[in-house]
Amino acid sequence: MYVLRLAATRFAAFCEAAYGVVEAVMHGLEPLARRVGYDRLERPMAAVESVTKGLIFDCRMCGQCILSDTGMTCPMNCPKKMRNGPCGGVRQDGGCELAPTMRCVWMEAWTGSRRMRNKAGIAKPQPPLDNRRWGRSAWIGHLRERRGE
Ligand code: SF4
Repeated sequence: MYVLRLAATRFAAFCEAAYGVVEAVMHGLEPLARRVGYDRLERPMAAVESVTKGLIFDCRMCGQCILSDTGMTCPMNCPKKMRNGPCGGVRQDGGCELAPTMRCVWMEAWTGSRRMRNKAGIAKPQPPLDNRRWGRSAWIGHLRERRGE
């Protein structure tokens, strides 16, 4: 929902703190998740993420979440799916080149990042999207990555 997405950027510091709590809980539950099996948890976790992050961040379920680097603004709402900054077509008023009524998500991302502890994250080069991960749980992917899977 666009209004909530803008609010998440406005309250990026709070969202960052909440993200930190969720991350700590997920890391704490990781041994249990491993016992249950990541494959079994994939669908329910993806469903939970789709509803919660979809509502708050307009999450598109790319499966490789970078919200904590992008001012708690989901870059996948960019019509061009830019993950490493704006395209260069940003309008003078900050509007998106392709969707003028929407402020460029990277303008929002920059604003949000200035409110966060992780101010440097926005300058971090993001790897190309792995298209096999669309629709999958970003948290399960994160736990798998931590274990080097
Ligand atoms: S970066 Fe990906 S996982 Fe994170 S909110 Fe955006 S679409 Fe969802």
